[in-house]
Amino acid sequence: LPDADVAAPTAGDVAGLLPSPAAESDKYRRGVLGIVAGSDTFTGAAVLSVGGAIRAGAGMVRFASVEESVRYVRARWPEAVTTVLAPGSTGVLDDIGRVQAWVVGPGLGTGSHARDLVAEILGTDLPVLVDADGLTHVARDRSLLRRTGPTLLTPHAGELARLLDVPREDVEARRIEHVRRAAHELGATVLLKGSTTLVAEEDRPVRVNSTGTPWLATGGTGDVLSGIAGALLAGGLSCYDAASCAAYLHGLAGRAAAAGSARGARPGGEAAIAALDVAEALP
Ligand code: AMP
Ligand code: MG
Repeated sequence: LPDADVAAPTAGDVAGLLPSPAAESDKYRRGVLGIVAGSDTFTGAAVLSVGGAIRAGAGMVRFASVEESVRYVRARWPEAVTTVLAPGSTGVLDDIGRVQAWVVGPGLGTGSHARDLVAEILGTDLPVLVDADGLTHVARDRSLLRRTGPTLLTPHAGELARLLDVPREDVEARRIEHVRRAAHELGATVLLKGSTTLVAEEDRPVRVNSTGTPWLATGGTGDVLSGIAGALLAGGLSCYDAASCAAYLHGLAGRAAAAGSARGARPGGEAAIAALDVAEALP
């Protein structure tokens, strides 16, 4: 590929893009992020996504889910403002005002209630990040992506393979080609996760991030990433910039967490991390 089609943002690029609070800021102007995630069986993904958003600097996180997930989010992140959804109910948007961007999908489930929630959020004209189970619903019904607002999809290779209906090995063998094709065919910004992370948008160079560490290959780190990128969307960044800055920070935070885990070991050493450590390392 011609070099001009691929770019790797530097620390300076990312620092220049990140929102920082102005003297006159209030929490609403810093960005209110709505997160619809978690289910009766998957409560951890919700906790991790909310944590990523709070530590990445969201002015406020408004979280809506079934009671079991709300219980865990409230216990771990008292900063989040929560709404309990009755089983089967939608109408999330009626209860949650002032949101500037949405994250939908982590731990949400693949049933019809989850599908209705994904459709409702995608029905707004706000920026929406779709991850995990949210991507399953989009893969089943691409028409969910026919929308007015900007969309950011954050698949790993398996999820992208399902979105494009191609074998996973094909995605892994030609990642740049597939992430570009997904952005074009789905009309969305696409962040493809893996040992390096790629961000594609129509008519823009593919952005490559390799700040991470293989210690990030552990359950839940992707959920943290969704919250980070969501916070940046709510803070006013475009999907393309929010995705590339989130990948950069998530990788760096993973490294910091792994180095922290290895304290007392050889200098420069890294040791295993838990996904929540990545959120905690963000500052
Ligand atoms: P998920 O697959 O949704 O749980 O997300 C996993 C997260 O960890 C993504 O942000 C990946 O980019 C990151 N990750 C997974 N494996 C590696 C690796 N070998 N090196 C660096 N980052 C990784
Ligand atoms: Mg994931």
